[in-house]
Amino acid sequence: MGQNMKQTLEYTWKDVNAALDSMRVMFDYVRLVDAEECREVAVDNEGFLQYGRECYALWNADHRCADCSSYRACHAHQKMSRTEFHEQKKYQIQSIPALITLADSTVFSCSLELININLLAPEELGQNKTKDVQETSEYLTTHDTLTGLLNWDGFCRSVRQLLLEHPTGEFLIISANIRNFMLANNLFGRTKGDEILMDVAGILSEAFSSVGVLGRNGGDVFSICIPKSAYSDSRFFEIVSRVKSLIDSSSYRLNIHFGIYEVKRNNLPISIMFDWAYMALDSIRNNLEKSIAWFDDSLLKKVLHEQEVLSNFETNLKSGQFVMFLQPQVDKTGHIEGAECLVRWILPNGTMVPPYEFISILEQSDLIASLDKYVWELAVKQLATWKGTSFEKLFLSVNVSPKDFYYTDVAATFKELCEKYHVTPQKVHVEITETAVADETQNNRETIAKLQQDEFTVEIDDFGKGSSSLSLLKDIHADVLKIDMGFLRQSENNKRGAVILESVIDMAKRLGMEVISEGIETKEQLDNLSALGCSMFQGYYFSKPIPVAAFEKMINEI
Ligand code: C2E
Ligand code: MG
Ligand code: MG
Repeated sequence: MGQNMKQTLEYTWKDVNAALDSMRVMFDYVRLVDAEECREVAVDNEGFLQYGRECYALWNADHRCADCSSYRACHAHQKMSRTEFHEQKKYQIQSIPALITLADSTVFSCSLELININLLAPEELGQNKTKDVQETSEYLTTHDTLTGLLNWDGFCRSVRQLLLEHPTGEFLIISANIRNFMLANNLFGRTKGDEILMDVAGILSEAFSSVGVLGRNGGDVFSICIPKSAYSDSRFFEIVSRVKSLIDSSSYRLNIHFGIYEVKRNNLPISIMFDWAYMALDSIRNNLEKSIAWFDDSLLKKVLHEQEVLSNFETNLKSGQFVMFLQPQVDKTGHIEGAECLVRWILPNGTMVPPYEFISILEQSDLIASLDKYVWELAVKQLATWKGTSFEKLFLSVNVSPKDFYYTDVAATFKELCEKYHVTPQKVHVEITETAVADETQNNRETIAKLQQDEFTVEIDDFGKGSSSLSLLKDIHADVLKIDMGFLRQSENNKRGAVILESVIDMAKRLGMEVISEGIETKEQLDNLSALGCSMFQGYYFSKPIPVAAFEKMINEI
């Protein structure tokens, strides 16, 4: 295998030891190393980790290696090597990144080190570094130059040391982060930004250095490990208010928040414990009222669910688990003019998963664009198969996620699909949510204009859900306005709501837009909206979203 190929080994805890044994026949020394913590690790008979000595103890050193090949290997996901010279011996080390699935299903990222040990040849003597140089590089590799706190490696190693020295102690791993720090950098400049970081480091040092371990991972992320007994709400709230007082500005408030993981098993890699603390922190990122969040198993379940959705998505899409349902769109008289395509995820056991359980997860990555393109293609293909049948006149309306604009050329994709299946663009309605339309930074408006030039019908979906609804009407030249269900509900039993709804419909019509009301559940709603001038309707009153075959059957039976 070439040196540049990705080559991470994968083992289950059951087979890793046998694999190591087979390599011991070929090398002088074989071991697993947690490269972040600079420690040898073994997998025990129960499938859990046992942390051993520091890996450089192999050559009796008391310093980590200046250039650790295992660290590089784990980060680059490929094989790396290095040579260490110690006490007239030469250690040739090959580091291979490995992922081991442990008994509790956590995945441990480590390095498999294959080491050959030889006596130094005379010409190789003297290549060993002096102790001074080693000490300087040791400091630099474990400390953050800006704040003088430990860096990530230094933090991991010191925490491991603490846990090994106090095997029965109760500890907390804490991540701390400044909200919107990028904004502070932009507002006040980088120099002031650095000053803030140093001040925050000072406040955290005062609070924790004497009781635990403190580091900065980079950027505005700090890492802390303290005994559980050193925790109190008031201690943390005091830090929050001290940090807040560092900046006196009406345009920016300096907010620090914390995610806390209580160490339940100290034989997990520190990086996993920290990830869990960070996960807790992430859960309150947008909640200005909370400064402290504790990790719990439900959070882990949620994240594992998200990972499962994301990692199996491509396979599930290929195996046909995502299906297009149709919900009729009707005119005043109840005549079906077309339908909205709404995706459903049907699990192999037949369970149907609704879009709100997976769309927002897929929107975290470009996978949303894969799903949407898939649904768009199903829709255009469906229109093609309806040609020459009694369904020929129907249109289909598809949803576009605001994230699609980042990942794909929306207008070009629709054009290509219509060309591929010889479908006229007028039959394809494109639903773009109000929030995506309001976002001027993404050139979304250009895309909308392009779609209209190509004769697609552009609809503003969920109108009334966002905050910019009315001002939006002024700038956007869409063909159809789809009024959100919430808007509809608000207008019932509420005179002011009804007046606003009536004026929106009136305004849309005067601007040349058709109005569709979605979420019609009762005859009364239908009559009221018809009286207000709405011409198209969609909702459970007519039909829930149903499979294509059921939709065709419904039309045939009318
Ligand atoms: P949406 O585009 O606003 O779709 C309308 C939603 O309202 C659908 O929910 C529909 O089932 C529901 N609905 C329709 N009539 C009624 C009614 O009378 N009462 C009530 N309570 N609900 C009604 P669904 O299918 O669960 O979809 C939810 C959202 O998921 C959609 O909102 C859309 O934003 C998104 N979505 C669905 N399919 C796709 C897709 O293929 N791609 C993308 N990007 N988003 C999709
Ligand atoms: Mg829609
Ligand atoms: Mg909608």
